[in-house]
Amino acid sequence: MDLRTAIERASHIVIVGHYNPDGDAVGATMGMKYLLANMGKPADVMYPNAYARNLKWMDPEGTAIAYAEHPDKGAALIARADLIFCMDFQSIGRTDVIAPALTQSKAFKVLIDHHIGPARQEFDLCFTETGVSSTCEELYKTVEAELDTALIDRRVASCLYAGISTDTGSFSYACRHAGLFRIVAALIEKGADTVRIHRTIFDTFSESRMRLLGYCLHEKLVVMPAYGTAYLSLSLEEMERFHYRTGDLEGVVNYALGIEGISFAAFFTQRKNRIRVSLRSKGDVDVNVFARQHFEGGGHKNAAGGSSYDGLPETLARFECLVPEFYEKEIRPKRATKPKPLI
Ligand code: 5GP
Ligand code: MN
Repeated sequence: MDLRTAIERASHIVIVGHYNPDGDAVGATMGMKYLLANMGKPADVMYPNAYARNLKWMDPEGTAIAYAEHPDKGAALIARADLIFCMDFQSIGRTDVIAPALTQSKAFKVLIDHHIGPARQEFDLCFTETGVSSTCEELYKTVEAELDTALIDRRVASCLYAGISTDTGSFSYACRHAGLFRIVAALIEKGADTVRIHRTIFDTFSESRMRLLGYCLHEKLVVMPAYGTAYLSLSLEEMERFHYRTGDLEGVVNYALGIEGISFAAFFTQRKNRIRVSLRSKGDVDVNVFARQHFEGGGHKNAAGGSSYDGLPETLARFECLVPEFYEKEIRPKRATKPKPLI
């Protein structure tokens, strides 16, 4: 069944984003909701847990459901759904508490994503490419190919722009292809206020988040120059000391990667039952494989994540042991090939 037919036939639509929904997940899910509304099709959006405050403007009425907080409501919506959109994750496992209900559901499932290694067998229809910047870009391309870009109004355009700008780090990575900028031009023509969206997402941190960032960089940054590697870590106690709130650590790992000569950066944050691992790299250095092999995770070549179920000191010690081998196998060879001059 094609996308248009699936939408036209559906009577109960649910749109799901991944755990710790970021700008791309919220942009793609809310963008999809508004797009479907423009087709006369209401839909419910849900995430495993809550999104950060700086993304709230995309959902001004607060209609999206954090499943962990309203499991009965979430389960009931999935149980009656006949069409489910899965946005910005490559396998149902990334939806945490929603995963069992999603796996059980007999609804027609559509994947729209851009992660490496989509679990195609879990979905009925897939729109997924790794060469795009974001799920929001993939959604735009899907609408162009399967539906009609006239369905993209100012609301949809603003959500899609939010996802593209966050997943490219404000157009600093995953944005080499000219097609992306043609899409951005179209989104601006449709009314996306790029400057205000940028300010709302990136310039609205709390004072305590800024002090937490300062603490991380001053006290917690470990640089391993011989291995082109730098990492940061935070314990629960440290996060509480700085009144941590969801979203406060977004982007912190990129500061470690911003150091000259560093090609591999990691950030370890202690959570209730595990250590969250965030990995970033420059150029051809592939952190997706590292995340899969050592931290039960995955993602993209230059941005991946995973988990460790050891304690924080043990996890950091294990990481330090893995770095020399990773340097020899992945970082050093990739650095040896001299890049073409910029001009
Ligand atoms: P972040 O470090 O921002 O949490 O995640 C970076 C990228 O890695 C994101 O694209 C995210 O989807 C992916 N990622 C993060 N954690 C996991 C994980 O546990 N499993 C998989 N497969 N991907 C992850
Ligand atoms: Mn994404």
